[in-house]
Amino acid sequence: MIYLDNNATTPLEPSVAEKMINFIREHFGNPSSLYPIGRKVKEMIEEAREEIAKVIGASKNEIIFTGSGTEADNFALRGILDAYPNKNEIITSSIEHPAIMSTCQYLEKKGYKVTYLPVDEYGVVDLNVLEDSITDKTALISVMHANNEIGTIQPIEEISKIAKRKGVLLHTDAVQTLGKIDVNVDKLGVDLLSISAHKIYGPKGVGALYIRKGVKICPLIHGGHQERLLRAGTENTIGIIGFGEAARIIREKGKKDLKRIEKLADMLKEGIEKNIPKVKFNGHPEKRVKSTLNFSFIGLEGEAILLALATKGIYVSTGSACSEGSEETSHVLSAIGLRPEIARSSIRFSLGRFNTEEDIKTVLKELPEIIAKLREISSFDDEL
Ligand SMILES: *Cc1c(COP(=O)(O)O)cnc(C)c1O
Repeated sequence: MIYLDNNATTPLEPSVAEKMINFIREHFGNPSSLYPIGRKVKEMIEEAREEIAKVIGASKNEIIFTGSGTEADNFALRGILDAYPNKNEIITSSIEHPAIMSTCQYLEKKGYKVTYLPVDEYGVVDLNVLEDSITDKTALISVMHANNEIGTIQPIEEISKIAKRKGVLLHTDAVQTLGKIDVNVDKLGVDLLSISAHKIYGPKGVGALYIRKGVKICPLIHGGHQERLLRAGTENTIGIIGFGEAARIIREKGKKDLKRIEKLADMLKEGIEKNIPKVKFNGHPEKRVKSTLNFSFIGLEGEAILLALATKGIYVSTGSACSEGSEETSHVLSAIGLRPEIARSSIRFSLGRFNTEEDIKTVLKELPEIIAKLREISSFDDEL
């Protein structure tokens, strides 16, 4: 198997799996219990929290564990609006992940005003429109750090300057950037930031929201006293332990890993551009997460390419996993101005820690043949 869909999810790092297995065998205590077997688990959760704080340059008390990156995004938006009842406006981008997009659509139905910032052909948000959209009713700006489909990195530092000048809070969805580019809450200047364990070789079903000290927010889930009363429910202990270990590995050897992954991605990009005619690269030429490569193969259906690759054991995606299976074309590719038939011809290759040079060589051997064959049977129109 050649797995090139690391933006959808990543395989579990073996040392993370080992830590989780050892943990679940030995520890069943409730972290809220006051006797030793509970205290021990609480201690281990706090160690994991410390690791996650360190990897994004935050302090431990600013991290709240959630059930997913999606929950962290929901929590940021709804929690801030609830905490500021006098404000009823949110500004976001038109290329957010469904975790933000659907939450915003829900909020609109509830009567809130949402501005969806346009992006240019590379997927970068328009800062002038952003500035003009801010009113004294704006509670929050939420713009993703990098896009999951095309990898474009947003100018979060610049957005932060505007937000600070106007006195508006700023959230970023950094689920796709942790471990891939520098994610530091102070350098970015954000008030809230979402991350997810299964995108960094950790387990599924656990995420976190960074909440800058002093920022007012209301809980999304009510119940017990867990997570400083901000996220009730007995902790996903095994998930949190795995998340902490995954974060530790990123902090300790992420940089070295990254260099290798980026080299492989460059090799794949160059190979596709050199060996396959009529392809269009989607995303920013420089301001991008290098391990994400989105290409339109003009004249074809992305799904046909995906299925043909899958028969060779090569796994890729036609866009966001969450929109797969739906007939609609990607809202991200539409937002950067692709015509529907071009958008539908797109494939996302996302590389990760476990890819090898051999993987890329195999793809570069199989893909041109697949594309040529599919174009032959689809009576590809050369005029396109
Ligand atoms: C995967 C992803 C999410 C959702 O995280 P889950 O933990 O799968 O809920 C949110 N935002 C982006 C950009 C993602 O890529």
